[in-house]
Amino acid sequence: MNLETGNQQPATISFTITILGSSGALPAYGRFPSAQLVEIENRYFLVDCGEGVQMQLMRYHANMHRIGHILISHLHGDHYLGLVGLLFSMHLLGRTNDLHLYSQPGLDEIITAHLRYSRAAPAFRIIFHPLGHETPQTIFEDDKLTVETIPLTHKLPCTGFLFREKTKPRRIDKTRLPAGLLLQQIAALKKGYDVTDEDGNILYRNEELTLPPRKSRSYAYCSDTAFAPHIANQIKGVDALYHEATFGQDEAERAHLTGHSTAAEAATLASLAGAGKLLIGHVSARYRDLTPLLDEARQIFPNTDLAEEGKVEELVC
Ligand SMILES: [Zn+2]
Repeated sequence: MNLETGNQQPATISFTITILGSSGALPAYGRFPSAQLVEIENRYFLVDCGEGVQMQLMRYHANMHRIGHILISHLHGDHYLGLVGLLFSMHLLGRTNDLHLYSQPGLDEIITAHLRYSRAAPAFRIIFHPLGHETPQTIFEDDKLTVETIPLTHKLPCTGFLFREKTKPRRIDKTRLPAGLLLQQIAALKKGYDVTDEDGNILYRNEELTLPPRKSRSYAYCSDTAFAPHIANQIKGVDALYHEATFGQDEAERAHLTGHSTAAEAATLASLAGAGKLLIGHVSARYRDLTPLLDEARQIFPNTDLAEEGKVEELVC
């Protein structure tokens, strides 16, 4: 119960991003290849699945069986080489619930070959969803949220992912609620309707008894990509943006040649998109100290942080 508003909904509904891996192509200096766990109201999405992901899930006390969806951005090894090990552990630990796997075409063949040659027959279904990479696609939707792909610009077909909560119901303002309202009248209020009598006459207007809905939150994951300003429109106003920053601006040439971005470019995109916050990661193994990359991004977009292993970013509403 939220004492401040008299609302019976929980004060906060979770929306957290846990960074499991923030390194670029090579693991380096304690940094693991790309992986993040996104949890939204008990829905668990593993986003990219680099080598070592199981160790990282254990280290940060995340239960692998709660992961219902694994989203792979593209088929460079540093984004999926932790997957086979994770699937085998789920099998060994007796998982039975379905697992949805989203990636560019081909990952299903890779998984199938591993299972065939090891003669393993998991007791859970792996439901493969092949992704396109040229236009945004809604790949998940339920009553609370949608997940869509973000077409990125990389050496291989590659997409990011945009998590967006749906508009929430208005909140009952208990301090103004008259006594004696029926349950169905309260339910109607939550849906935005007025309270009427049995003849349809309005007894109370909705706005007299309710408060605006809580904010709908959003998170965009963009790795790997060259600077791609066209995506700013799709992710306009996101609360948090993770964007790769493989290099510093002094290596801009190399970034462009390899289909990657600099910290300054990541910050420019965050600024173009009007993001609330920027997390940078997928950093090259050439950098031991990441302060210069962080400083470079902050000069353009001050609300930037490093996506360091173990960091939990909580989006509040
Ligand atoms: Zn890549």
